[in-house]
Formats: sequence, C-alpha cells, structure tokens
Amino acid sequence: MIVDHARGLHERIADSGTGELEATPCEILAHRVGMFATGGQLIRQPPAILEWPAFDELPDISIERTEFLLHREKRSRVLNCRVYLEPVAHYAFVRKQERDFGIVIAGYLAGVETIEQRAEVIGAHQVRLADGREIASRHILVATGARPEFLPFVEGLEHAITSNEIFDLATFPRRLLVVGGGYIAVEFASLFRRLGAEVTEIMRAGNILRGFDEDMRDGLREEMARAGVQFRFGCLPMRIGKSSTALRVDLSDGETLEVDQILIATGRRPNTSGLGLEAAGVALDPAGAVVVDQDSTTNVPSIHAVGDVTNRINLTPVAIREGHVLADHLFAGASAPADHHNVASAVFTTPEIGAVGLTERQAVERFAIVDIYKTNFRPMKATLTGGGERTIMKLVVDAASDRVLGAHIMGSEAGEMIQVLAIAIKMGARKADLDATMAVHPTAAEELVTMRKRTARIEREAPARLEASEPDPERVSMPISMPTML
Ligand SMILES: Cc1cc2nc3c(=O)[nH]c(=O)nc-3n(C[C@H](O)[C@H](O)[C@H](O)COP(=O)(O)OP(=O)(O)OC[C@H]3O[C@@H](n4cnc5c(N)ncnc54)[C@H](O)[C@@H]3O)c2cc1C
Repeated sequence: MIVDHARGLHERIADSGTGELEATPCEILAHRVGMFATGGQLIRQPPAILEWPAFDELPDISIERTEFLLHREKRSRVLNCRVYLEPVAHYAFVRKQERDFGIVIAGYLAGVETIEQRAEVIGAHQVRLADGREIASRHILVATGARPEFLPFVEGLEHAITSNEIFDLATFPRRLLVVGGGYIAVEFASLFRRLGAEVTEIMRAGNILRGFDEDMRDGLREEMARAGVQFRFGCLPMRIGKSSTALRVDLSDGETLEVDQILIATGRRPNTSGLGLEAAGVALDPAGAVVVDQDSTTNVPSIHAVGDVTNRINLTPVAIREGHVLADHLFAGASAPADHHNVASAVFTTPEIGAVGLTERQAVERFAIVDIYKTNFRPMKATLTGGGERTIMKLVVDAASDRVLGAHIMGSEAGEMIQVLAIAIKMGARKADLDATMAVHPTAAEELVTMRKRTARIEREAPARLEASEPDPERVSMPISMPTML
C-alpha cells in the first residue's frame, strides 16, 4: 500500500515537470519513508520503485531527523502540498514512531502551527494562551477531551492513581486495587492480572460493564474471575492510608485491603472547566459537556466541538470522524453529518468483547418482537490445548424485518471480528444474509453464519405503534454510548 502511494507521487512529480503538485499525507509519508530508507535522496531523483525495501524492514527514524528533512524540503520547495488531514490513514498502517511524525508531517505541510500551551476561550473568535498571547480566528474548535473523575468522598485519594499515570509507574504493583467497572477498569484489571499482579476490582454496581449486553457482562466477569481477578460488587473505597510498604484501603463493606496501587477508573468528565466557554456564551450540559448540533457547532456559530468534550460516543475513531466531517462542512461545503449509528466498539480484556448495535435489552425496549441467536463454546484450538477462554456470540434480530439489530461477541479477537461484522450490520444485513454466507472453517467466526437455531423470542405485551410501523432499525436505534465506569 505504501509503495502504491509513493509510486503515485513519483509519477505525478515526473509529470508535473516543476516538482509542484498536490499530495495527501499518505503519499508524502510514503515518499518520506522511501527517501529515508534509501539514504535521503531528493524527491526529484526517486530510487527505483523495485529497490524499495519492504515496510517492515525500514529503519526506525527519529523525529529530529524528520523535522530536519522537512525544513530542508520546505526551503527547497520541492513540494507545494495542499494536504487534507486524514489521521485515520496514518493509524492504519504507520508504525508507532512513524505514526507520530506522520502527524507532524501532515500538520506541518498543511501549514498548521502547533503551540504546546493551555488555551482558554475568551470570545466568539478569540483564544488566550497560557503565556498571555491572544489569537483571533474565524472558527474555534474545542477538542479538549475528557479527564478522569475522582470520588470526592474518599479520604486519602491523593495516594491513588488514574489511567493517566498507570503507564508511568516506577515499580510494578504486585497487588492492585481497581475501582470502577467500566471498560477502562476491566481492561486494566485484566491486563495486570495477566502480568501477574493480584488484582481486586470493586465497584458500586452489581456487575461490570454497564451498558453492554448482559450475556457479555456475565461472560467476561466469569472469565476474569476464572483468571484470578477478585470482584467485589456494591463496594467503594472510603479511606486510603499510606504506610512505608503499602496502601491500606477501608472499604464500604467493612473490610480493609492492603495493596501497592489503587487505580481509580470511575468515569471521565468532559474537559471544560476553566476553559472560558461559559463566559463566551457556549452552552454546556449538566455533565459539563459542550452541547453541539449535528454539525458539531455550538450555540455560538463560530465555536465548534468534537470528541470526548461533547460526550457523544467517547471513542477515538468517532472523535476523528467528527473532526473530519466538521472540516469538510466548514471548508469544503459538505453537508453530511457524522453518523453515530451502529458504532462498533471493543473492550480489550482477555477475552475481548466486541459489540455493535443494540443490546438485547435495548432491542426489546424498541421493537415488538426480538429474536435472539446465541452460542457459547470453547474454540477448537482451546479444546486441543486444554486451556483458553470461552467464546460467546449473540445476534439480536428484529423478527418483523429480519434485520440484525445488534451483534455481541466475547472471545479471542472479538475486536477484529466485530469490525468486519459492523460493515454488514451498517449496511442493513438481515439474519438471512448471514445464513446465506458460507462459513470459513475451522474458525471461531464461522459461528456467526451458522447460528440457525433461535435461542429465544421476546415479544412485548403491548407493542408500541412506533416500532410496529417502523421496522428500520437505523431510524430508531441509539448508538451504544460508552457507559459510565462505576
Ligand atoms: C485508558 C483509556 C483507554 C481507551 N481505550 C480506547 C480504545 O481502545 N479505543 C477507542 O476508540 N477509544 C479509547 N479510549 C477513548 C479515547 O482515548 C478518546 O475517545 C479519544 O482520545 C478522544 O479524543 P479527543 O480528541 O476528544 O480527546 P483527547 O484525545 O483526550 O485529546 C484532548 C487534548 O486536548 C488537550 N487539552 C485539554 N485541555 C486543554 C486546554 N485548555 N488547552 C490546550 N489543550 C488542552 C489535552 O492535553 C489533549 O491533548 C480510551 C480512553 C482511555 C482513557
């Protein structure tokens, strides 16, 4: 793919004669990587395409070197690039180090000046930086994300950490207490248990992963417990004390735990406090999220917001898409809003969860008759080795239209599987379409197209008129909103 991009750019440079042309970040990145790998030849003397090394064989390149070359490029004006920012493309195929300077390249060539300072909105077109400078702009985009929310009633909370700090720990916590039951909490509980820590996870709720399908919640809890995570439900920390060797946590159920670290993962709050938005007249909702219309514009027409700060669906690809759509809307006259329906998501525990569309409970609330297809098995490779986690797959189907309203998978590679299945569901797949699809054998995913026998039919006693006359799930389904973490 990268070679294709680079080849396209080579050809267009040759055709242009002047060396001036338009290019996408992928093409530029591809070309840069090719240049580095072959010793930094000038772009007008590209190496033979066939001599290019495979992407995996490319050397690691430091960001300083990239910046140096970019400066040289700019001076020589080899490229006069008009870049449209498409960070998704970078994430798709750029290795970690390259990802960072891929974005630098895209931003730099697009003429973006990056100022690493805190900013505050001081008017409809005005932002003040931490150093006191004021910047005027036709549009202001607020994309300040969210921050971890603490439990204010816990004494000694300063001894605990959040997901912001957990990757910077100096020593591995042999005993970890995770507070919260959302996807961030279970991901870290699962990860640290796999790394060998004794993990206790406590939460106010009666089960993990509020908002996910009940079968996935129960299945994952059982698998994590089987792996050694100790759960305590309806339980919160009340007091944290620190000794020279450990943290002592008094719990609301009367017990005291001794641990090395406490991870608070009880939810995230939109990052709007102290941002000047209220003073600028921008409406916030009760949770502090910026209220936006379908075009990501606030009630102040020049101020826009995307991503977690709007608390719509708090996921990276959603934030990226919202930003992309807004840019298209403001600067290219496009009018289609970002589509928040049937957004797939994954929970990266062991085993993983992948979900798209409605849970069984959500479907039953909205549709008159809901059919459930479910399977629960240990994959063949696990039976051969004698270990491995269970796999659960579940399809939620509108009986009237046969449309698949939701798919839920717990098992190895569930994130990968749900991404592919999400395409079919987004396109309006019916259960009959899955049945008509030939299986790939032997795979775990083949179960998705071989679940012929309905496991349950749920009929609402008094079907609402809306659902009876409205069989199209796209028009009534709600996106899976990422649940609160507690
Ligand atoms: C532990 C964890 C795991 C996650 N895992 C996944 C996952 O697997 N998949 C997934 O899709 N999503 C995941 N998410 C969610 C994902 O990270 C967010 O949805 C995404 O980062 C939102 O992007 P954003 O641009 O809105 O905000 P962010 O990525 O948070 O960026 C906001 C930026 O604004 C800056 N900022 C804040 N205030 C100011 C200010 N006043 N002035 C200047 N700059 C400011 C911040 O420093 C930050 O750089 C995870 C989140 C967490 C915390």
